[in-house]
Amino acid sequence: MIKPLEKIVIVGGGTAGWVAASMLANHMAKPDYSPSSVKIELIESSEIGTVGVGESTIPPFLEMLTNLGINQQDFVKYTQGSFKLGIQFDNWLRKGESYFHPFGTITAGMNEQIFFQMWLKSAHQGDKFGLQDFSPCNIMAKHRRFYLPQLLENSPVSEARYALHLDAKLVAEYLRQYAEARGVVRTEGKVVEVIQRDDGAIASVVLASGETVAADFFVDCSGFRALLIEKTLGSTYRDWTHYLPCDRAIATQIEKVDETVPFTRATAADYGWIWRIPLQRRIGTGYVYASQYCSDDEALNTLKSTLDGKILLEPKVIPFRTGVRDEIWKKNCISIGLASGFIEPLESTAIHLTVRGMVHLLRNFPDKDCDPALINQYNRRMIVEYEEIRDFIVLHYCMTEREDTAFWRWCKNMELPPSLKETMDYYKVQGGLPDMIDALFHSVNWRSVAEGMGVRPRKYSPLIEEMDYESAKKKMLDYAETMEAYVKKLPSQDQFIRDNCSAY
Ligand code: FAD
Repeated sequence: MIKPLEKIVIVGGGTAGWVAASMLANHMAKPDYSPSSVKIELIESSEIGTVGVGESTIPPFLEMLTNLGINQQDFVKYTQGSFKLGIQFDNWLRKGESYFHPFGTITAGMNEQIFFQMWLKSAHQGDKFGLQDFSPCNIMAKHRRFYLPQLLENSPVSEARYALHLDAKLVAEYLRQYAEARGVVRTEGKVVEVIQRDDGAIASVVLASGETVAADFFVDCSGFRALLIEKTLGSTYRDWTHYLPCDRAIATQIEKVDETVPFTRATAADYGWIWRIPLQRRIGTGYVYASQYCSDDEALNTLKSTLDGKILLEPKVIPFRTGVRDEIWKKNCISIGLASGFIEPLESTAIHLTVRGMVHLLRNFPDKDCDPALINQYNRRMIVEYEEIRDFIVLHYCMTEREDTAFWRWCKNMELPPSLKETMDYYKVQGGLPDMIDALFHSVNWRSVAEGMGVRPRKYSPLIEEMDYESAKKKMLDYAETMEAYVKKLPSQDQFIRDNCSAY
């Protein structure tokens, strides 16, 4: 017999807490609490506050907004956001060199695999045009242009994709309004004690006010504190610092001094890298570094030397540990967001993993029994997604040719995760990549970063030899020329924002 959940408590009101509340509310809560609906309560402590970073997203974030029925333009306006076409990586392969990791596909109007092989053949023959010369997102970013690609169907940029840069505080505020309007109850309070049932599952949480809040199911969104999943239920952490040694960030915000570029910038520094995320009126920036090589003071000085606008927020040090929890879901408690694990933010994947955590919860939604088979599948699936992202992030570091600091020498000589080694050995033959179910990063992503980091397959597919190379090459070059001319006529990102979603 099904024993439906009657009450869910979410602990934490950062991006994860409010994403979880919104997705649950969208599925099940009703403002009038009809008998069939589950009661959802979110507890957050403004005294503790949120981590305050996490402002660059990837395209699937937009799918979440669509699924919630949120108007994208309205959301961008409220969160003072801007549009992102990819990430520019500076100084990663060598100092002074840059590459772009774009969203969307790269096809030059051909079948994607055939295009890539034809391009590879041309590269092997010494032609100078790069893979990114055919990427709509890259060309738009190069010219600082933006327009919604879905409104440019049948144009040379229709295969572009985009994501958003957002103010994290305003995201939580927006989603709070969304969730509260759908029946989620917010309680201000600090959880000071967690009461367990005889079977070890969580029965209730006790607030500093003395109030006890009971539920059948708990969502731990308490951030790095991992109050329920770790401190109470003892779920252990799979530490990946030996693959990704950055373990601290120092974050700040500065006034915007020039145009809003439609991309995130990740600039490699001596002991890590510096992010730069442009919003409508300010820039979020920070230095992600490895504390075994660099002190907080040194990191602060490095960050300050890059700031070109008035500092709006006192720089704040955020310690973290790259890894994932062995049991993201344990008994009647699931951890979402930073409480479940964290991979350093180089490809802006954490909010995505928050959404994935909720998507898989809804696919495996339990009743009061919380069947262990659901929990096992959930944990296995989420860990695969974390591993995929971990490998992709390691790729950005391990192919460096930099040897100018102990940090980069370590990266250059690091031992790869076996799964990444296998992927790269395969890729280096003729550009093949393993198939993955529901993969976040597709062949275009791996190829863009591998090429940017100087890793080119040794050969191209012999099947290409059977095809008309000269006419394919002409088609590719015509495409690049047409696209370049087309993009130059698009509005700048600032113009697009002014016309459509300005917050001011
Ligand atoms: P938090 O924001 O820390 O929220 C925790 C919540 O729990 C708060 O509301 C707090 O008050 C509450 N809480 C804690 N303890 C208690 C208690 N005892 N009682 C009551 N409430 C409690 N992600 C991206 O997708 N893109 C990025 O560009 C990106 N950049 C990042 C850069 C850095 C340096 C770091 C560290 C992370 C970055 N992330 C990024 C990750 C992103 O910040 C998080 O995924 C996101 O903010 C969600 O955080 P959270 O809600 O899990 O935790």
